Amino acid sequence: MNDDRQRVIEYVRPTIRRMEGYQSGEQPQGGKFVKLNTNENPYDPSEKVLEAIRVATGGGLKKYPDATAATFRSVAARHWNVAPDWILCGNGSDEILTILMRSFVGAGGAVRWPTPTYVLYPVLTQLQDGRADPVPFSPDWSLPEAFFRPCDGLRMVVVANPNSPSGTLVARDQIARLCESLPCPVVIDEAYADFARTSCIDLIRDYPNLIVTRTMSKSFALAGLRFGYVVARPELIEQMNKVRDSYNCDSLSIAGATAALDDANWLAQTIDKILATRTRLQSSLADLGFEITPSSANFVWCSHVSGNRAIYEKLRQHQILVRYMSYEGWGDGIRITVGTDDQADALITVLKQIL
Ligand SMILES: *Cc1c(COP(=O)(O)O)cnc(C)c1O
Repeated sequence: MNDDRQRVIEYVRPTIRRMEGYQSGEQPQGGKFVKLNTNENPYDPSEKVLEAIRVATGGGLKKYPDATAATFRSVAARHWNVAPDWILCGNGSDEILTILMRSFVGAGGAVRWPTPTYVLYPVLTQLQDGRADPVPFSPDWSLPEAFFRPCDGLRMVVVANPNSPSGTLVARDQIARLCESLPCPVVIDEAYADFARTSCIDLIRDYPNLIVTRTMSKSFALAGLRFGYVVARPELIEQMNKVRDSYNCDSLSIAGATAALDDANWLAQTIDKILATRTRLQSSLADLGFEITPSSANFVWCSHVSGNRAIYEKLRQHQILVRYMSYEGWGDGIRITVGTDDQADALITVLKQIL
C-alpha cells in the first residue's frame, strides 16, 4: 500500500510535487456568513445578463460554443475602441494569466511582480519552471527604481492595478515608463480597474509590449460565471490562441458576459454604490483605530495594533469573513471587501464589540 503510494507520486513532475498550490479564499456554500473575503460584488448582476443566459439556454446546449467568443469580442472591441482581433477571452482572468505565462515563460525564464500582490503569480511561474523575481513596492506603494531595470532572462512583468491586497494604484505614466524600460511583455492585471474608473488599455497603441487583462468577476458581479479577457496587439493574440483550450468559454458565459459589458448604466450605478460604501467603511475603520491604506478598489487593506489574525478569527466566530493575509518578510493585514451598507454596518457593529 505504502509502496504504491510512493510509486504513483513519482509519476508527478518534481516541480508539481514541490509546489504548495494556490490557496483560494474560503467559499462557504451556506448562506450564514457575511462574506467580505474574496472581493465579490454584493449586488445582483444586470437583469440583461440573466435574460441573455436564459435565451442562450433556450438555443440549446448540445452544440459547441463559438470557439472565438466573437459576439463578446465585437462588443468589447467597440467598448475599448480596438478591432476584435485585439481581444482573447478566457474562463476567468485567472485562465488568461495562465495563457500568458504559457505563451511567454519557458523553463528558467524570469517573471517579475511587485510585492505584496496577487499570490497566483508565483504559482503560475512555478508551473512553468520559471524563475520568480519579486520586487518589493516602495513604502508609498509606487514601483521602485529597481522594478524598471532590465535583467537577464526577464520574460514577463505583471502588475495588478489596482493592486491586491493594498487597493493602491500605479500611475499611468509609470506604466508607460515601464513599457519603455523593459524589453518584455508588461502585463497589467486590471481586475479592479473599474472601481478606479481607469484603464491603460488605450496605451497599447503606443506600447506594443503592453498587455491588459480584465475580468467580469468583480465589477460586473459575475464571479460564478467565469469570464475574463485580454487586450493586446493582434500578433500576440494570434500566438496566445494556439495556447488556450479550443472551447475555453462556454455558451452561457459568453452570452452573459456580452450582455454585462453592454449594460454600461448598470455598471456605473453599481460602482457609485460601492464607492459610497467604501468611503463610509474607511472612516468607520479609522474611527476604530485601524491603519488604512486609501483604496482605489472594492476592498480596504487595513491593520490594527491589537493583532490582525486575532481580529480575523473573532470576526469569523461572529460569521463575518474577511481575508487575513501575511507576507513573509513584510507583515500582515486584513483585507475587507466593500459589500453593501448593511454588510459594512454588521462588520462595524461586531468590531466595536471585539476590539
Ligand atoms: C480576482 C482577481 C483575478 C481573477 O479573477 P477571475 O475571477 O479569474 O476572472 C485576477 N487578478 C486579481 C488581482 C484578482 O484579484
